[in-house]
Amino acid sequence: MTQIYTYGNYLREKFGAKVYKVGINISGFTCPNIDGTVAKGGCTFCENDSFSASTDEVQELKGFHLNLNSTQNPYLQKQLLQLEQQFQAISKRQKEEYGAKKFLVYFQSFTNTYAPFETLKALYDKALSFENVIGLSIGTRSDSITDETLAYLAELNKDKEIWIEFGIQSVYDKTLEKINRGHDAQNVKEWILKSKEAGLHVCGHLIFGLPGETQEMMLETAKEAYEWGIDSVKYHPLYVVKRTALANEYTRKEFKPITEELYLDTLLKAIMMKPKDVSVQRVTAGIDDDSLLAPQWCRNKNTQIKHINATLKQVGLKY
Ligand code: SF4
Repeated sequence: MTQIYTYGNYLREKFGAKVYKVGINISGFTCPNIDGTVAKGGCTFCENDSFSASTDEVQELKGFHLNLNSTQNPYLQKQLLQLEQQFQAISKRQKEEYGAKKFLVYFQSFTNTYAPFETLKALYDKALSFENVIGLSIGTRSDSITDETLAYLAELNKDKEIWIEFGIQSVYDKTLEKINRGHDAQNVKEWILKSKEAGLHVCGHLIFGLPGETQEMMLETAKEAYEWGIDSVKYHPLYVVKRTALANEYTRKEFKPITEELYLDTLLKAIMMKPKDVSVQRVTAGIDDDSLLAPQWCRNKNTQIKHINATLKQVGLKY
């Protein structure tokens, strides 16, 4: 049985130890697809402030949101403190529970380049100053990163490991419109190519089961994303959570979630098409609480992984 090339394998080979990702959520960050800059309400599957109460953990920052044109950020010190507190708490647990020695700070929630440059610089510099941090991974949208930020990340990448994670989702504009994505496929392609040209490491997020997509379309998305030169990939099934626009479509029977059989078959084909040096960071997604509306197979992660491994086994692979 051959183990598929995972992100963990990549990091271990490069840094000689298991590197743990520390997921960070900074209050005051939002997304241009939520704040009305490109659209309102966000992607149809995204649970955000349009549908539920703000999740900002710093009380004072509730309702305060940055964007690319913000001229000042009175809460920067609070955000830096929040970053430090989250990093220390999570990395401490990873050290105690798993013996973690090296860390990658993962700016995870919302759009983590959607703020004035000075704010981003301060947060990235601070994250890289923590002990045993080997680099950053920054989740963002391709319409929300500036040349200035990209150039700074490229500079940091000379001494550290800098990743940008772009939501690709689909290469079909009609699908991107259906999910209210707020940008087209050309925009993602352009920024992935630019990021690669700047020497940065790129992870692409793909979703299988988007409204109206056939398996052929899902695989075409994977094929094009590989061709754009992504270094790592996250595969997700589209699942429906309550308080989203997609939940309304599902309730009105306008959206039918992907079956587990189709997801497994698509995932297998996408992995088999993948260039060998593209590492896999994620093979599925889901949520095991009462916010999940459908499909039910997205509830239990262990069962999903078991089924994925049974599928991969047919071709001599394991995750
Ligand atoms: S880009 Fe991300 S944060 Fe913004 S609406 Fe879509 S899923 Fe939500």
